Amino acid sequence: MKRKTVFIIILCAALIAATVVIVMLTNESTTGNNTAYTANKELAEGDAKSDAENSTKTAVCSFYPVYIAAKNIAKGVEGLNLTCLSQPQTGCLHDYQLTTDDVKLIESAGLLICNGGGMESFVNAAEYAKTYPGLRVLYASENLPVNELEEDNAHYWMDADLYEIYAQKVAIALSDFDTENAGIYMENYAAYREKIEETIALRDELSLEGKKVVNLSEPLSYLATDLGMEVSMFIDLEEEESISADTLAKACEILRSEDAVILYDEEGAEVANTLVTETGAKAVCLDVITTGDGNEDAWISGMTSNYNLLKEIQ
Ligand SMILES: [Zn+2]
Repeated sequence: MKRKTVFIIILCAALIAATVVIVMLTNESTTGNNTAYTANKELAEGDAKSDAENSTKTAVCSFYPVYIAAKNIAKGVEGLNLTCLSQPQTGCLHDYQLTTDDVKLIESAGLLICNGGGMESFVNAAEYAKTYPGLRVLYASENLPVNELEEDNAHYWMDADLYEIYAQKVAIALSDFDTENAGIYMENYAAYREKIEETIALRDELSLEGKKVVNLSEPLSYLATDLGMEVSMFIDLEEEESISADTLAKACEILRSEDAVILYDEEGAEVANTLVTETGAKAVCLDVITTGDGNEDAWISGMTSNYNLLKEIQ
């Protein structure tokens, strides 16, 4: 009996020992797997990191107003190459033709930020999707509040409220494109929105509701209506090579009979001067923010200056 008990005890001890060894082995192999997984994960993360470090993302803006908005949104972001297709002195893109360098730039980009509304007639988003599968195209004016838009007038950035939404769309597009820096883009947008709203506060101090306007610049149509002014006559100097005597006479009549003011940009200086000489009406030369030195504050300073100039005709 004693021997049998000793045998059972030894057998149990052996079983316990075997179980302990098995459990230890299992644990070791699991830990081993975990170690391998962690190492692989680190390797994968390392790869992704070096990929991100090595490949700079490129976002291309079509022209000045879009570029100024994007410059504010992308401030301080490393690894993003933000460029502008047209030169800062090009102005609007109504008749723009792509150069070979432009095409190369688009090919190298991951995001193309456009104004929309027909401004970039050279961009065919559907065609681009096929030709450049890795390229996203954003129209900053997409789904802007329709009742505030004018047909065939794509100079939306001249309406301060529309510009705030426009900048927000640029921020969302950049965040989606470069998710790693999404937080910075949205923070930058919040800061930029504050600046835009400070500028809007200057607009709201003006009292120009119902003031009649002879407008010589299409972009200024948004600015005028945003201020509640009424455009009695628009002379499209971009379309008309020379202004007819009839058109001039009609403009003079409106300026006199409606006590209207002339709004123009620097392109319209000559016509504005003629009208002032003829009628003695007040004329204000405003910044349409399509050209400049590329300073990120171009929209803020341009609109602030515009609102200050308009104080003179209240
Ligand atoms: Zn234009």
